[in-house]
Amino acid sequence: MSRTVYLNGEYLPEEEAKVSVFDRGFLFADGVYEVTSVLGGKLIDFDGHAVRLQRSLDELEMDNPISKEDLLEVHRQLVTRNEIGDGLVYLQITRGAADRDFAYPKDAAPTIVLFTQAKPGLATSPLADKGIKVISIADERWGRRDIKTVQLLYPSMGKMAAKAQGADDAWMVEDGFVTEGTSNNAYIVKDGKIITRHLGNEILHGITRAAVLRFAAAAQMQVEERPFTIEEAKAADEAFITSASMFVMPVVEMDGEAIGSGAPGTVAKRLREIYLEESLKAAV
Ligand code: PMP
Repeated sequence: MSRTVYLNGEYLPEEEAKVSVFDRGFLFADGVYEVTSVLGGKLIDFDGHAVRLQRSLDELEMDNPISKEDLLEVHRQLVTRNEIGDGLVYLQITRGAADRDFAYPKDAAPTIVLFTQAKPGLATSPLADKGIKVISIADERWGRRDIKTVQLLYPSMGKMAAKAQGADDAWMVEDGFVTEGTSNNAYIVKDGKIITRHLGNEILHGITRAAVLRFAAAAQMQVEERPFTIEEAKAADEAFITSASMFVMPVVEMDGEAIGSGAPGTVAKRLREIYLEESLKAAV
């Protein structure tokens, strides 16, 4: 079935949505994106994503072609038109089409695209009962990972390296410390304390991370925001990742070695429950 997608103010069948070959997203990866989860037809943490989108655009001096209110309306329209129960809405804004030049064009109109992907049963992923396996790789991305750009080739390479080793994902390491997963934030739990890297340019400021740390604090769980090593991860009681599409996902193996008991830990399980429950309550 053909989806309806949104392109520059129009709702179109996906086959009819076309972007210029001169689009700077295509030529320079000069674009930013957001992924918002949909559960039961409602958007999870829309506000957080809209705020981060604006920040990414500001950092790149890129115009925002849409107001927050209109953006919410487009998200809702796509969810309705494509009959999304559980799934996600992908949003991308690029600097638009212009003659190829490294300097930003002065008057290009930004390109804005949104589409949906259905993921039935997203919140009841059997993967969460098993947990995922990760490997460690060097972090060879650029230095502004706090900007959510569409240049995702290194994370793709990391994901492929993980698959080649029979694992699900990779945690990236820089100067001896874990930065984050290829498309998620990384956490370990030791002696009841949740440890995750502090915010900075080295990682994406996850919307799910912010929510989970808020819920953890409200549940009187101890949180320490600091860098940690792969050795600490291997010796941890448990580990997990967070992202808008995975929520809280336990990690049970690092570089072939079991973490803790080798099964999802109690802290990760509890945080997943709290996150889903609270996020659903606040969903729009
Ligand atoms: N880090 C990276 C590198 C990511 O790509 C993502 C997800 N896009 C995250 C962290 C998690 O962010 P969020 O919780 O906002 O999905």
